[in-house]
Amino acid sequence: MPGTNLTRAEAEARAEIVAVDSYEVTLDLTTGLTASPPTFRSTTVVRFGGRPGESTFIDLIAPAVHSIVFNGVELDPAKHFQDSRIALPDLKPANELTVVADCAYMNTGEGLHRFQDPEDGEIYLYSQFEVADTRRVFAVFEQPDVKGTFQFTVTAPDHWHVISNSPTPKPVPEPDRTITIGDTPHGLATWAFDPTVVLPCYVTAIVAGPYHRVDGSILSSKGRIEANVYCRQPLAPFLDADVILDNTQKGFTFYEKLFETPYPYAKYDQIFVPEFNAGAMENAGCVTFLEEYVFRSKVAEARRERRVVTVLHELSHMWFGDLVTMKWWNDLWLNESFAEYVSTLAVAETIQGPAAWTTFNSLEKSWAYRQDQLPSTHPIVATINDLEDVEVNFDGITYAKGASVLKQLVAWVGHDAFFSGVAEYIRKHHHANATLRDLLVELEKTSGRDLEAWSGVWLEKAGVTTLRPSIQTGAVDADGTPIITGFSVKQEVPEEWPTQRPHRIGIGGYDLTDDGARLERSWFVETDIHGPSTSIEDVIGKKRPALLLVNDEDLAYAKIRLDRVSLETAVEHVSLFTESLPRSMVLAAAWDMTRDAEMAPRAFVDLILKNVGAERESTIVLMLLRQLSMTLDLYVDPAAADEASRKAADALWALAEAAEAGSDNQLQFVRAFAARAQTPEHLGIVRELLDDKRHLDGLAIDTDLAWDLLISLIAGGEAGAPEIDALLTKDATASGERRAAHARATIPTPEAKKAAWDRLINAPAGEDMPNALQAEATLGFNHVHDTALIAPFIDDYFDMLRRVYDTKTNEMATNLIEGLYPAMHAGRVADLQDRADLWLAANEDAHAALRRLVIEGRDGVRRALKAQEADAQ
Ligand SMILES: [Zn+2]
Repeated sequence: MPGTNLTRAEAEARAEIVAVDSYEVTLDLTTGLTASPPTFRSTTVVRFGGRPGESTFIDLIAPAVHSIVFNGVELDPAKHFQDSRIALPDLKPANELTVVADCAYMNTGEGLHRFQDPEDGEIYLYSQFEVADTRRVFAVFEQPDVKGTFQFTVTAPDHWHVISNSPTPKPVPEPDRTITIGDTPHGLATWAFDPTVVLPCYVTAIVAGPYHRVDGSILSSKGRIEANVYCRQPLAPFLDADVILDNTQKGFTFYEKLFETPYPYAKYDQIFVPEFNAGAMENAGCVTFLEEYVFRSKVAEARRERRVVTVLHELSHMWFGDLVTMKWWNDLWLNESFAEYVSTLAVAETIQGPAAWTTFNSLEKSWAYRQDQLPSTHPIVATINDLEDVEVNFDGITYAKGASVLKQLVAWVGHDAFFSGVAEYIRKHHHANATLRDLLVELEKTSGRDLEAWSGVWLEKAGVTTLRPSIQTGAVDADGTPIITGFSVKQEVPEEWPTQRPHRIGIGGYDLTDDGARLERSWFVETDIHGPSTSIEDVIGKKRPALLLVNDEDLAYAKIRLDRVSLETAVEHVSLFTESLPRSMVLAAAWDMTRDAEMAPRAFVDLILKNVGAERESTIVLMLLRQLSMTLDLYVDPAAADEASRKAADALWALAEAAEAGSDNQLQFVRAFAARAQTPEHLGIVRELLDDKRHLDGLAIDTDLAWDLLISLIAGGEAGAPEIDALLTKDATASGERRAAHARATIPTPEAKKAAWDRLINAPAGEDMPNALQAEATLGFNHVHDTALIAPFIDDYFDMLRRVYDTKTNEMATNLIEGLYPAMHAGRVADLQDRADLWLAANEDAHAALRRLVIEGRDGVRRALKAQEADAQ
């Protein structure tokens, strides 16, 4: 649809001739709040400068436009509103446009999302505008470099909170108007917000509903400002607002000093909202979060750590993104990578200590390496021709590789030079737009380094290189240890991206100490490397360590390999590292070797099962268990997979029993065991845990764990619909509905799988599941012990692609296409790759973003087949 798919060329042309002064947006949220389909009345007044005589357009996605008045002239909507654009002819130096429309409430998490709580029938709304969904709520020049001020006036039920970018005003009652929600009549009121400072439209926001509010405040360098925390009413007992506010305060203090600029807005609200697609969104002064970050049951510590990083990630955007905004979406990476990097830095320096960098290695880098080895990989600075390009670019390159490369850049120019450059960049471009070049100019000034060449190889070329050590040893010393006589680091480049890069790296030698009880660093060297092979003199003459780690301290963005001796030490002793970062790096290298078919998948399974019990970093445990699951499901030779899975389940149960009472590991092991339980014996244990007939010390079967156990029984054919209904009666909540959607789609019968498929793919128009239920049902559909059960849907998958991509919103289509890719049939269905190839050949005219999703899915299968081959040998 060309109307909604704004191109870069169109955006550049429009920015040349349009400059917005102000938007006045009046929303009556009550006009069609309970109608079907639900809508609301939206009135926009835009005042903007224009180049006289030119014509342009403004964006709006709306089921009905009632009137358009442009510079005093009534324009006919039937003629001027087409294909989600309103044509604006004959610009004047100063223009005024008024548009009255009915806009649609969404259930996809894009635009103004409407959620009705099954517990009490209350309705909760929130907006999500990035990348280009502001236009689903009001008429707007939908591009990041046409900034303006926004004045919102909102009419809503009078028992609601209405929250936006400006501080919440006192509502004025609307006499004589009422609305009935559920069975309860309510009065109405209007909230007239002050205009914002200049903002890009994608960070404006409206959040409205009977949210639970915890009043809070933050001490900023400008003085004390309001900072409230909100969530849905039923989640109120679980909201730890004091922790959120404490994290936030630490972030404020840290960033205001680091960026040398006070927090730019009048207040800072944080709202946990239902059915949110991402982790969070940096609306200026009005940040929204996924409500699963309010923990109603016990969660892995890794989830709490991730929440802290997310809180500080969003806060950093207030300066980097909201105050200084990218000119076009090709610099999205800079926005997101900066936030990822600097939030980890803030967490490391103010809350968690250096372990935050272990998490960074474990999560971010593995994501980046995976994405960078897909055939669809691209330079960090990507070509973004249109909005559909950017939608598929919220990926591991944009977030994780970019952040990893920024970490390397900080090592390259030095911490102080980097951040004084950033501070100058913020001072120079505040309330305006900037590009990568604008930042590099400042960094060159503060560091004295030429970043042109650096940017060329790091940002403008794709692919990840592999660093492999080459060690020669000679005579032994007095205690029999060989001495290193030659040492170099080889840089191997992938064929398709043959770029050699300079790296600042650490090299560490580790030895067993304390009678073999610990693996500790004996020496460390930091140096620059470049080209295919770099000889490093500083290492020569040292004793050969038990384990030599290239890229120690994880400064570089590169895959690493261990030499033979080090690999043997790692397999035997990885749990003995006293520091978590090298442990995480060595485990990541083993995972990487497994994915590259350089390590047998079952050897990797053994490595994990042998070491995970001693692991204390929750994120490492989480990642290892995920990798274990993926290895067993995809990479192990299918002929051996059942037995390997059964043995893994045995080992996981033993780990759960041996774990410390009430520990994080105990919970994670029980969950992983339940997900893999398949034999009558294992399912019997799950049943006893759920029925409270078997106990592990310190393990409470809380609501979410009960769902995990029930879903395990369902997948094993030991429970069905009646038990889902029974648990849903006990847990009659929105979260319960989500888990039940997963459980129903898991039922292992052909009829239940067909029903789940039809619900996901073939629902009649207007009856699509909301985004959150769709995500759960997708997981449930794929949750099978015997992949033959869902093999009949492979053809349906390729058949539905064009239709789903063309008829659903971007978010909904992408999640279905990625989530349902039939990768689990790798090695089990002979012509799986042929079917993908046939589709690609027959659909050369499909949008590049859709083709990309299929190409990525196909590559996952290719990798699995290679690993299965390595496993079979
Ligand atoms: Zn972000």
